[in-house]
Amino acid sequence: MTTSDIEFDRQHIWHPYTSMLTPLPAYKVESAKDCTLNLEGGSQLVDGMSSWWAVIHGYRNPRLDAVAHNQIDKMSHVMFGGITHQPAIDLAKRLIDLTPAALERVFIADSGSVSVEVAIKMALQFWLAQERTEKHRLLTIKGGYHGDTFKAMSVCDPVNGMHHLFSKAINSQLFADAPTLTPDDEWTEDAGDQLKRWFEQFHSELAAVILEPIVQGAGGMRFYHPAYLKLIRNLCNDYDVLLIADEIATGFGRTGKLFACEHADITPDILCVGKALTGGYMTLAATLTTKNVAETIGQGPGGGALMHGPTFMGNPLACAVAAESLAIIAEGHWQQQVHNIEKQLRKELLPLAQYESVKEARVFGAIGVLEMHEPIKVAEAQKRFIELGVWIRPFGRLLYIMPPYVITAEELRQLTYAMKDYAEN
Ligand SMILES: *Cc1c(COP(=O)(O)O)cnc(C)c1O
Repeated sequence: MTTSDIEFDRQHIWHPYTSMLTPLPAYKVESAKDCTLNLEGGSQLVDGMSSWWAVIHGYRNPRLDAVAHNQIDKMSHVMFGGITHQPAIDLAKRLIDLTPAALERVFIADSGSVSVEVAIKMALQFWLAQERTEKHRLLTIKGGYHGDTFKAMSVCDPVNGMHHLFSKAINSQLFADAPTLTPDDEWTEDAGDQLKRWFEQFHSELAAVILEPIVQGAGGMRFYHPAYLKLIRNLCNDYDVLLIADEIATGFGRTGKLFACEHADITPDILCVGKALTGGYMTLAATLTTKNVAETIGQGPGGGALMHGPTFMGNPLACAVAAESLAIIAEGHWQQQVHNIEKQLRKELLPLAQYESVKEARVFGAIGVLEMHEPIKVAEAQKRFIELGVWIRPFGRLLYIMPPYVITAEELRQLTYAMKDYAEN
């Protein structure tokens, strides 16, 4: 029974970024609770990935479960065209409260990539509405990741991303060099020289800058100096360019601040959130912007409508769970939790840099990364991790974790122990 189900999966179902001919093994999870994944057959794994940054409050969180059940008993879904509902209103209020003060107009999207598309559309429509059609290009920094839809792909890292595959279908954007200074480095003024030159040269074509603040996630798990972000904010102001902050991975406390933009004390014109928004229960994202951007778009052609409206926009079930997840965030325990995780990661991961196999060990907020010299053989590594009772999913040369905020010190030790085991062998 089991073998044939796994075999069916292998033959018929695509998993993320895998080949149908030579797929990596997929493990069957039966259930999950708190920070533990229960595999079919009885193995229990401490989850180091939070299901890709999302499950911050743990699996089967009693409060999120209760809200989901309660909402199902009312309605799981209703269209958002011409209709509104309490969960969407509650969620928007929470988002406006938690995000920087100037962000007060909310588009509820159905996934991170879609929220990025919406953010870019907002920026383009903002300039269209002012008849500045020449402002249609995007500037970003190398090493980024913004999603898998086409416009989002166009601003992913040009080498790590999928540009080479789809080069004919992807428009070319402007890529500034990836920041070289980390948050621990001393800021040097010349680090911003290229950015200054590019704004000078290209500002008349630029609709927006899009970037991940401070932490570049799926593009390479790198942390950069907040002064870059501050500089880019200032350049955007000086040269009339919008700033889009993609906080889909960093939002809601992961970096030690509620939003990574706070490390540089800046407010973007447009903000994308996703991933942890529903505490990892279901897919949902949002794009927030300022009154000025929203109202300028509103004066544009075609009656000023923002031209986006997915079928499942504002899904009540997802909105209800997200509103409760943000209620938990608003209570503030995340701060101590993330602080404790960071402290333990620094203590247990940073010394692993001494191993020959490790190029660099780095920690920022509740994110721990070992960058190895050699590419990691995922199938082999994963098998070993499962023997050690942990779920860690490496990519490329990166072995990294971003555990649920509710992880215990003991569980976290299990994760860092497994990383040490890999580094040693
Ligand atoms: C995951 C991610 C996205 C894409 O979100 P999806 O929900 O997978 O579409 C975009 N930007 C960043 C920074 C992300 O981490």
